[in-house]
Amino acid sequence: MSKVRVRFAPSPTGPLHLGGVRTALYDYLFAKNQGGEFILRIEDTDTARYVEGAEEYIMEALEWCGIIPDESPKHGGPFAPYKQSERRDIYDKYLGEILKTDYAYLAFDTTEELDEVRKEFETNGDVFAYNYITRNRLKNSLTLSKEEVQKLIDEKVPYVVRFKMPVDRILNLEDIIRGKSSVNTNTLDDKVLVKNDGMPTYHFANIVDDHEMEISHVIRGEEWLPSLGLHYLLYEAMGWEKPQFAHLSLILKPEGKGKLSKRDGDKFGFPVFPLDYKDSETGNVSKGYREEGYLPDAFINMVALLGWSPANDREILTLDEMVQEFDLHKVHKAGARFNKEKAEWFNHEYLVSRSDEDVLKLLKDCKGLELKNCSDDKLLRIISLMKERATFVKDIITDGQFFFEAPAAYDEKAVKKSWNEATIELMNDFAVKLENSDFEVDSLKKDIHDFAESKSVGMGKVMMPLRLCLVGELKGPDVPDIMQILGKEETIARIKNAVNNIH
Ligand code: GLU
Repeated sequence: MSKVRVRFAPSPTGPLHLGGVRTALYDYLFAKNQGGEFILRIEDTDTARYVEGAEEYIMEALEWCGIIPDESPKHGGPFAPYKQSERRDIYDKYLGEILKTDYAYLAFDTTEELDEVRKEFETNGDVFAYNYITRNRLKNSLTLSKEEVQKLIDEKVPYVVRFKMPVDRILNLEDIIRGKSSVNTNTLDDKVLVKNDGMPTYHFANIVDDHEMEISHVIRGEEWLPSLGLHYLLYEAMGWEKPQFAHLSLILKPEGKGKLSKRDGDKFGFPVFPLDYKDSETGNVSKGYREEGYLPDAFINMVALLGWSPANDREILTLDEMVQEFDLHKVHKAGARFNKEKAEWFNHEYLVSRSDEDVLKLLKDCKGLELKNCSDDKLLRIISLMKERATFVKDIITDGQFFFEAPAAYDEKAVKKSWNEATIELMNDFAVKLENSDFEVDSLKKDIHDFAESKSVGMGKVMMPLRLCLVGELKGPDVPDIMQILGKEETIARIKNAVNNIH
């Protein structure tokens, strides 16, 4: 078998979105699982839709995800250049070849002329298509004489090159995920292969490059399924062996209806882009998973499982494990519904599995987080207590704010639940008792226990108001743990403060 080579071929018409990341990831996983190569090719022939910065965004996003191409515009490779705009001479060469066959023709119709015909069709309640019927009455090299065509070319009248769709053929198509299907060529139109500025369209450039770059498998979004018949015929026209195809189903909105699109932005309260994206026209910034605080390994693990089930329903897999396990036959035909809670669960799982030292490094890299001159030692203790409860690294600090600042206010409901006249004396007495504690967690536990016993009250009667004094509300890790981190002086000060301020 020849070498497995899989390409991810985005168009730089905007940022990569979740669906694009998943396509790139499956391309990568399949290629690596088969011991093959993963190639990034930038399909930038559509100059009208080119978006400044999109190409850099795509490369940065893949890098952040750890999906590193073997060949790309940045990494180079034996089939360079990897940007279609730099491959014009290659397309020109193959255009010459397809024009020698019966599969392509020149069409001189202007936009106005085509609009006229379109209107005429609409008036009759029909939809116009440039196809095996209409091409016979339009202005092209099939209806004009050789001399007339040459005259138009000499006069520099602009033309496009169209594919001449064969009539009455049934094409048997094969897709690794979806199996076999067939299409009648009479339902397909004569697609433009080369535009009037000489630039190839997606269809032509794409198959030329897949052939030239020796691509063995095309794994891409299902929006390209309707083009598969045309692509089969383009390979036939050129006399080339075609790659194998697999079309991935959509990622759906959380409610399960409709495609999760780029335009959904932050609409559902979660990002649809891997990195923050600033729209250069509107200046709007859409949130990215990276900036939201997702760990890249958690993010790609979550993305991988949107439409693929590894063996034994395993959910947590490193990139290497995914490579080992990946199987296109286990990729789902149905769309995958995005689930924000599940995405957060993945991040939590990855966060918990990191060492406290690792998390400390991540915390220090978090933008906009003030660590209040806290020693590493104290931060590590806070991390070990808070990690289990956090979804994102930053939660350790935002949810653990009480480690850094005494409560400025006390939650009303919590006060109602845990505080009464008798509490004041209880807390004052406990503060006195604490003067003699060594503030180790175990002794603090015993201190609380013994104190409650000496006062003939339940542990909760001491623990709850104490938590309120220290945290300002009834949440957080175990009270003795909090006390140990705050230290004797701060703990006693907070108790006194609460006694003076809670009414
Ligand atoms: N440039 C196309 C896109 O951005 C690639 C489709 C394909 O992989 O063939 O979707």
